[in-house]
Amino acid sequence: MAKGVRLVITLECTECRTNSDKRSQGVSRYTTTKNRRNTTGRLELKKFCRHCNKHTAHKEIK
Ligand SMILES: [Zn+2]
Repeated sequence: MAKGVRLVITLECTECRTNSDKRSQGVSRYTTTKNRRNTTGRLELKKFCRHCNKHTAHKEIK
């Protein structure tokens, strides 16, 4: 396997981020890796958010 291709990224629930009332309770975050060759743009995945209590879109953050 080639070195330096996998990037560790953080995915954050987009619904938690836009809902300021819920922000105090925390934001759902997932840490994952992506292949820099295959994924050039921002990664977005459906993940279960325990704060929203449902599956939501999680977007890559810096
Ligand atoms: Zn959420």
